[in-house]
Amino acid sequence: MRHPNRDGRSRQRMPSVGFALRLRYDGPSAMRALFLIFPLVCLLAIARAWPSDPRPPVRYRLIYSAPGSASVHVRIDLLGSATAARTLLIPRAVPMGYGEEPYDQFVSNVSAFDAAGQPLPVTRADGPRWHVGAAARVEYDVDLVQMERSIQDATDSSRVRANYVSLLGYSVFGFFEGAQELPVELEVEAPKDWPAFSTLAPAGGVLRAENFYALADSQTILGPGLHLAQVQYARENDTPLTLASYSEAPVDQARLQRLSGEAMAAMSEYFDGPASPPFPYYTVFLEFLKPLSQHHSYGFGMEHLESFHAAMEAANADPASLSDARLRYHIAHHIAHAWIPKRCYGEGYYPFSWDRAPRIDTIWFSEGFAQYAAIAALAPDQQQREEMLDRRFRGVLRESPPGLRRMPLRELSLLASTQYAADFRIGQLTFSRGGLMAAEMDNRIRAETHGQKTLRDALRHLIAWSAQNRRAFRIEDLSARFREATGVDTRDILDRWLAPLD
Ligand SMILES: [Zn+2]
Repeated sequence: MRHPNRDGRSRQRMPSVGFALRLRYDGPSAMRALFLIFPLVCLLAIARAWPSDPRPPVRYRLIYSAPGSASVHVRIDLLGSATAARTLLIPRAVPMGYGEEPYDQFVSNVSAFDAAGQPLPVTRADGPRWHVGAAARVEYDVDLVQMERSIQDATDSSRVRANYVSLLGYSVFGFFEGAQELPVELEVEAPKDWPAFSTLAPAGGVLRAENFYALADSQTILGPGLHLAQVQYARENDTPLTLASYSEAPVDQARLQRLSGEAMAAMSEYFDGPASPPFPYYTVFLEFLKPLSQHHSYGFGMEHLESFHAAMEAANADPASLSDARLRYHIAHHIAHAWIPKRCYGEGYYPFSWDRAPRIDTIWFSEGFAQYAAIAALAPDQQQREEMLDRRFRGVLRESPPGLRRMPLRELSLLASTQYAADFRIGQLTFSRGGLMAAEMDNRIRAETHGQKTLRDALRHLIAWSAQNRRAFRIEDLSARFREATGVDTRDILDRWLAPLD
C-alpha cells in the first residue's frame, strides 16, 4: 500500500486552478488563509517537474457548479494518445467497507472524447462499466441527492446541503481499467467564494495522489458550512492534524479538537514511539447529521490512508449522548487503522477489487488488533484496559448467536467481507475474537519478558516488515514475525482463537 514521501510537503505549490480555493482555519490563533487563482499552465508545468514519478498523471477535475446543485460533474483526462478501446469503471466496493454500494447507479450523462476532442460512442457494459472507445477524456455527472437517499449507511454516502458538500472519493471517481496505478492530479472547482478542502493536501497545494486508490480514498469537502481547524496537540510537529467538521446541531469545536488531538497523540505513541508516523499529515472529518429517514443508519466510521471520516447523528454532538471517552475511542480506533490495515494487511486488501467487495480472511486481525491497540493506547491502567475489553469484546462474545460462534474465525471473516455492517453481529464477533486474541498475546508477551516487551513491539515489527516488503502478510507467518520481535511464541493462542468457539 502507499507509503508517502515525507519530503513531499516541501515540494507542494499553491493550487493551480481557475477558481479560488479558500482554506479557513479557526485554531486558537484564528489563522485564516486565502489560496488564490493560478493559471492552469502553471499546474501543468509543476506536474511535468514532479521528480518522483516520470509518468504523466491522470488528470481529474471535480466540478460543483452552484450552491444547491444536486449533482457533481467529473472529468477524467488520460494523457497520451489512446489507440485501444477503454473501459470506465465506477467503484461498487469500499476499501475496508466490507460491503458494496451501487455508486454506478448515480452516474449519468457519460460522454467520451478522443485525443482530438471528437465525441465517441459510449455503451453500458457488464457490472459498473462503460465502454468508451479509444477515449482520451470522459465526463459524467453523479447525482448526490439520489445517492444519499438510496445508501442507508450514512458513512458510505456523499451529500449536499445548501451551504455544504462532502464527497467521498470512491463514490464519485471512476477510472480507466488498467490505468489505476498511474499517478493522479485532481482539480476541484467550487462555487465562487466557497471554501474547498481536500484530505490530499490539508494545508493547501496541488492535489496529488500516488494512484487511483489514494484518490478514491480521499475526501473533498466544500462550502461555508464546513468548519476547519488546525489541531494543536502533543505531536503536532510530527503529524499536522486537521479537524474538518460539519454539524446540524450545536457542537463544541474545542472539545472535538481536544479529543482528536488526544486520540492521535496516543496512537502515534503506540505505533511509532518517538519516531514519526508513516504519513505526513492527517485529517479527522466528523459530520453530525439530522437523520434523513428512519431507515438511514449513522455512527459508523471509515478509515483512510490519511484521514478518518464518520457520519454521526446530530444528537451525538452532545456529550450527554456521546461521552468524551466513547468519542475519543471512536477516533483513536479509526486512526489506528492508518497503520492496521492501511499499511499492514492480510491478503485481499491491496490491490483492491473496485467492482466487488473482496473476500478477506484477516478482518479479525485488521479490526481486532487495531481496536486492541486503541484500547491499550488509551487505557491509563490495567483495570481500565480490562473494563474496555469487557465492554467492547467480551460482552459481544457472551451474546453472540451459536451459529456464528461455531464458525472458524477465517470463515467468519470471509462472511464479514460483505456482511460486516449489514448484520453487525457478524462484524462485532469478528473483531471481538481478534481483539481478545490480541489481549491474550499481549498478556503472555508481558509475562514472559517480565514487562520488557509487549504486543506493541510485535505490531511495530510487523508494520516495519509490511513497509519493507510492500505486500500482504500470511496468517501462517504471524507467529514467526511476533516471535522475531519479542522472543515469545504465540502460535497456540493464534490457533485456539482461529478455531470455532464452541
Ligand atoms: Zn475498525
